[in-house]
Amino acid sequence: DLLVVGSANADLVIGVERRPAAGETVLGSDLAVHPGGKGANQAVAAARLGASTALLARVGDDGHGRLLLDSLRSAGVDTVGVLVGGAPTGVALITVDPSGDNSIVVSPGANGRLTPEDVRAAGSLFHASRVVSAQLEIPLETVVAVASSLAPDSRFVLNPSPPRPLPAVLLAACDPLIVNEHEAKVILGDSAIGDDPEDWARILLAKGPRSVVVTLGAEGALVASKDGVRRVASVKVDAVDTTGAGDAFTAALAYRLGTGASLEEAAAYAARVGAAAVTKEGAQDSFPTAEEVDAL
Ligand code: ADP
Repeated sequence: DLLVVGSANADLVIGVERRPAAGETVLGSDLAVHPGGKGANQAVAAARLGASTALLARVGDDGHGRLLLDSLRSAGVDTVGVLVGGAPTGVALITVDPSGDNSIVVSPGANGRLTPEDVRAAGSLFHASRVVSAQLEIPLETVVAVASSLAPDSRFVLNPSPPRPLPAVLLAACDPLIVNEHEAKVILGDSAIGDDPEDWARILLAKGPRSVVVTLGAEGALVASKDGVRRVASVKVDAVDTTGAGDAFTAALAYRLGTGASLEEAAAYAARVGAAAVTKEGAQDSFPTAEEVDAL
């Protein structure tokens, strides 16, 4: 089984002709409200592929929290670990201009109240999980607690998004650490590392993870472990909206690792899932079923 530990947000989206300056008001489109947050997205993506998936997260006792619980349950995610209360549900306020550029304000809300104690209280979820997947939209100390709560034979997958420098104890637990180009650069810091993603993969691996995956958008991905760096082919598709591609990729990879696939096999499957996700608008709405992945 797969356990995802992470954020759940309501994404509030308004289209605008242009953004307001300080003190100004502009009119926008009708409001669209979507379930989001990287934790909820990954749990929904994995469940839609057929993975037996639970989410450990925190939402507020409010309408946005109920929207998230509904979307998780209708995707088949086990929500026994979704804690309610302590702060309003996390929200992302998103304006989209006619060129498609986003401006986003995030209020972490209840995500910021998911504590190491919440993790320790969820021991039975950890015992039931062969793979545990996390991101960084919850407190870092909570993610560190996740990495130290794994059952003996289970595996930790981390997508450090939004990226920040990571403590050695967390890096050492990752198998794999999954980063896109931007995340790789932030985690590697200012060290002049050049433009070759294979170098980033090698340098990241030397920082302690047991394995590293670098995602490269339409170029596919790289997998790095003690066996070396290998390229994972991308799948050619007509990209419509890349939102959620990274979440779909990480969820699919974690799911396949739990079924006993090698890292390279899991990454190849994840690349197909990521490609399928960019062929549709939205995040959770774009995640494919296993049948849709097979048809690709
Ligand atoms: P993020 O969304 O975190 O920036 P990427 O853009 O690297 O991550 O996308 C994650 C994965 O999704 C890629 O490794 C690739 O397998 C797949 N993917 C993303 N964009 C495309 C695309 N345009 N065509 C095909 N596959 C894609």
